[in-house]
Amino acid sequence: MEFIEAKQRAAELKELININSRAYYTLDAPVITDFEYDELFRELKRIEEQFPELKTDDSPTQKVGDNISQGFKEYTHKYRLYSLDNSNNYDDLDKWYERIKKEYPNEGDIELVTELKIDGLSCALSYENGDLKVGATRGNGIIGENITENIKSIKSIPQKLSRNINLEVRGEVYMPVSSFEKLNEENIEKGIKEFANPRNAAAGSLRQLDANITAHRDLHFFAYTAISEDKSLFKTHAEALNLLKELGFDVNPNYFISKGINPVKEKCKYWETERFSLDYATDGMVIKINDLAKQNELGYTSRAPKWATAFKFPPEEIWTKLEGIELSVGKTGIVTPVALLKPVQLAGTIVKRASLHNFDEIKRLQINTGNEVLIKKAAEIIPKVIRKRENEDFGVYEEPKYCPSCHSELIKPEGEVALYCPNTLGCPAQIEGRIEFWASKDGVDIDGVGESVITKLMEKNLINDFADLYKLTIDDFMQLDLVKEKSADNLYNAVQNSKKPTMTKFLTALSIKLIGKETADLIANEYSTLEEIQNAKSEDLVKIDGIGEKAANSIVDFFNNEYNKKILEKLKLYGVNPKGSAFEKISNIFEGKTFVITGTLSKPRNIFEERIKKLGGKVSSSVSKKTSYVLAGDNPGSKFDKAHSLGVIILNEKDFDILSEGNNAL
Ligand code: AMP
Ligand code: ZN
Repeated sequence: MEFIEAKQRAAELKELININSRAYYTLDAPVITDFEYDELFRELKRIEEQFPELKTDDSPTQKVGDNISQGFKEYTHKYRLYSLDNSNNYDDLDKWYERIKKEYPNEGDIELVTELKIDGLSCALSYENGDLKVGATRGNGIIGENITENIKSIKSIPQKLSRNINLEVRGEVYMPVSSFEKLNEENIEKGIKEFANPRNAAAGSLRQLDANITAHRDLHFFAYTAISEDKSLFKTHAEALNLLKELGFDVNPNYFISKGINPVKEKCKYWETERFSLDYATDGMVIKINDLAKQNELGYTSRAPKWATAFKFPPEEIWTKLEGIELSVGKTGIVTPVALLKPVQLAGTIVKRASLHNFDEIKRLQINTGNEVLIKKAAEIIPKVIRKRENEDFGVYEEPKYCPSCHSELIKPEGEVALYCPNTLGCPAQIEGRIEFWASKDGVDIDGVGESVITKLMEKNLINDFADLYKLTIDDFMQLDLVKEKSADNLYNAVQNSKKPTMTKFLTALSIKLIGKETADLIANEYSTLEEIQNAKSEDLVKIDGIGEKAANSIVDFFNNEYNKKILEKLKLYGVNPKGSAFEKISNIFEGKTFVITGTLSKPRNIFEERIKKLGGKVSSSVSKKTSYVLAGDNPGSKFDKAHSLGVIILNEKDFDILSEGNNAL
């Protein structure tokens, strides 16, 4: 690039970044995506590296965050806050680590602490003699906004520490994704503009002049830094985190200590996709040198510490073209529109399709083939469409009248938004959907028997419902031209091995309308045999906590239906039946207690489930306020975080053993 051209582009970039940084930091209402912002920032950095004379003091690359909005008192930070250098590729991580190693040529691998980069709002809390004196935003790093009153309304921030020490604590204020979605729903109803993402919702809620509003928003705080003049308190970053925990702060549990950079890269890769199972937004990982003496030696640039760096995940949101809308008919007859997209790279995968939920959603989005749409990866694997480009008009996709599979006229039951194909027993798409679901991971989990195998089996008229899977012989499977990994032997064995599912899996796999895994759990906890469930009356079922009238009726209807009765008969004939959940109770010590299990334990999960049930307890697959205990093994999932945020007691295996003590012989 020529100097003249570079100078012009740099000026352009500075202005663009300044405008967008104001929208992001001061107004809490970004216009471009974080990824687009980072790209502008990186481009400017590259130009400034090539032409250092363009690196002026007022360049955004030399500053932190943005200015103070009017209305708050300014607060001069006791210790300056910095930003973090970041990259989005592993080579840069290697380079950063190599630079550090060069400073310590006589040492082996350096100890690093890697944490999730929480996508919230960073705050500095100042404690004197154990009392919370000031809470402030980062601002430009030197001066921030004094938001002490607002900070005091956040429950996970202690106002009094368990020790009377002077301490500066930094961390991230965030809003759980679930609360963000709820807040946005409420805002839509009230006709207030939605927040673009959980970070903006957190920032917008925290930076309210009226602290009462803040108090009504679900805000939490993860502490990630402690600073003290008393050098005896901690000597490493990991020790500081331990102290923070001891003092009553929430420290995000997903940090780890490693020697060298390779394990860090592995963890970055892991969290790149796993982050979607958390109930808070993370936009990357932060890697810090553990030893505080080394941190001091390495020091800072004008903007960021040299002893830390951030790895940014690929964007969660990206613009692409809506090339069409496809209709898919589900196992219960619901017709769902699916967005067909021009393929784009998003958060580590190539995306071609996105969920549109229902036809009301299409009306709300005002979209049609041809629109540019912003898509986002959320908790689900399949991304969703957030909005279209403003001022782009391709009309609105019209609701279909007929089932794309069997051409029956579609119906919309009272009080529901979904469109249904009413031809439950004759619609090929529904039949296939039910068989696929039966065999899927959420069903009885038949390894290797997925969409392609099932389609072929149906084409050859070998199966008409999921019970037919169990009469298939090895010869039948040989008739399909299968890919090598899926030998006929393997598929046959996988089918035969699925004959004894748990009661929950069995009930879920039947595709009863309104009965998902959680409801199936509730029923499985209550009844011990399939016969009892088949004979249960609606008035019995509604007595189960968590089962409403609609669900109860749906169960009764299902088991009274002649077609379903035939399928159940066939299943019985082929020897497919749920493992009895009739556990001989040995004691009642867990009476009235509901357990949820997450993570990897030392023994298979069902061993723990049986033990809980034998002691009179119940097992559920999702955490709610009614959960008594969460039993967490290694690498726990989102259930752990949910339990944490609801204040549910979390047990490790040892705790669990102690709790069920005296009954260890089970
Ligand atoms: P940036 O917003 O790109 O300047 O990145 C720096 C910011 O990352 C900090 O100011 C914090 O708000 C945020 N952050 C989130 N999680 C962490 C963490 N675990 N350690 C340090 N900073 C974090
Ligand atoms: Zn149909």
